[in-house]
Amino acid sequence: MHGFAYRNGTLHCEDVDLEGLANEYGTPLYVYSANTFRDHYRRLDQALEGVDHEVAYAVKANSNLSVLRLLANEGAGFDIVSGGELFRVIKAGGDPKKCTFAGVGKTRGEIEYALKHGIYSFNVESEEELRYLNDVAADLGLIAPAAVRVNPNVDAKTHKYISTGKSENKFGVDFERIADLYDRAATELPHVQLRGLQMHIGSQLTSVKPFVEAVEKVAPLATVLKEKHGIEFWSIGGGIGIVYQDALGAGSIDWWDSQAEQDRPLTLAGYGREVVPRLRNLGLKILLEPGRAIAGNAGVLLTRCLYEKQGSAKTFKIVDAGMNDLIRPALYEGHHEIVPVKEPGSERKVVDVVGPICESGDFFCQDRELPEFGPGECIALMSAGAYGFVMASNYNTRPLPAEILVDGSTVSVVRKRQTLDDLIAAEL
Ligand SMILES: *Cc1c(COP(=O)(O)O)cnc(C)c1O
Repeated sequence: MHGFAYRNGTLHCEDVDLEGLANEYGTPLYVYSANTFRDHYRRLDQALEGVDHEVAYAVKANSNLSVLRLLANEGAGFDIVSGGELFRVIKAGGDPKKCTFAGVGKTRGEIEYALKHGIYSFNVESEEELRYLNDVAADLGLIAPAAVRVNPNVDAKTHKYISTGKSENKFGVDFERIADLYDRAATELPHVQLRGLQMHIGSQLTSVKPFVEAVEKVAPLATVLKEKHGIEFWSIGGGIGIVYQDALGAGSIDWWDSQAEQDRPLTLAGYGREVVPRLRNLGLKILLEPGRAIAGNAGVLLTRCLYEKQGSAKTFKIVDAGMNDLIRPALYEGHHEIVPVKEPGSERKVVDVVGPICESGDFFCQDRELPEFGPGECIALMSAGAYGFVMASNYNTRPLPAEILVDGSTVSVVRKRQTLDDLIAAEL
């Protein structure tokens, strides 16, 4: 469910006409729906009812200060992957005591910064890192709260670039070796407090099965670690997938009701129904680290068609957004539904939608049948709220797009479009 739908012939975000926004603020333009962020956060929070829990939003999915502020106001915790993200959370009024710090390559500077702000847990990815954390904490005369990430060796059945829970991935410590690591740490690392256990098996999982498999496999370990080392939490990671294919349709409850039982995509409630009973009796606080599930369908990227180029083999619609603005299709074959902002008629055509960047990977779709639109018209790349703007770059010396947050009928520019001067401001 999300806040984007056609109303009176044009695509709206909540009560705001996107055609008007594109005209006023220019394109490419990211537009987010505040109430969709809230709704997803609340649904997840409710899905975990029945177990002591916290939803720690994965900041890397969309780290705009206004988005973080909105989620902090909902009571969210935050899962961060850099010192920069902690800085953002603090600036947005988030509570460092509700922050977990993930990632395989934390630097001394980042560890010191997070220690001084009293974060809830360092989610550590190797024995080497745990020892380093102990040393840095000792130098500061502090105790570092930590959880180790277990790699449960479960196949998440997602794209290989966003699968993280198999032994061949760089993430976490092997399931078979982790209990020994906790035992060693308890005796050898006095500046580490073993506070929890963490896992995260991958991103964009559209079936609940791998989650269930991982939870069932790791639950006995969590119990042992609680009894032996007094851990208080288990973070079961993020990774809940969203609907990309029929993203516009999936904004309404009717669409969900109309899906046949066997191909209904994973819902947040459905996720909770399967995992909560398997977690309820562990006596541990359960953390969830969703990024995409909260942000993905809360945003779109608006772009305007510049040219229609008739090649000998194909028709190209050339638009003013490129892979520097939204890299998911080029990076991991990410699919974004493409819909004209002006409600289309029945005419459809097979086209490639491409950007202006000098790379053949710079496309938003290939050989896809789309409703007809022409030069001067705006289209929306749906499901661009997560891993969209945060991955944007200045490649080809293109200014970063603006970001707009819509809340009901209120429009806020939550990040200004970069100017040409911004582009060179840090250079000699
Ligand atoms: C990226 C990441 C997440 C969030 O993943 P989503 O698929 O966006 O939910 C959660 N935890 C960790 C450790 C991550 O690296």
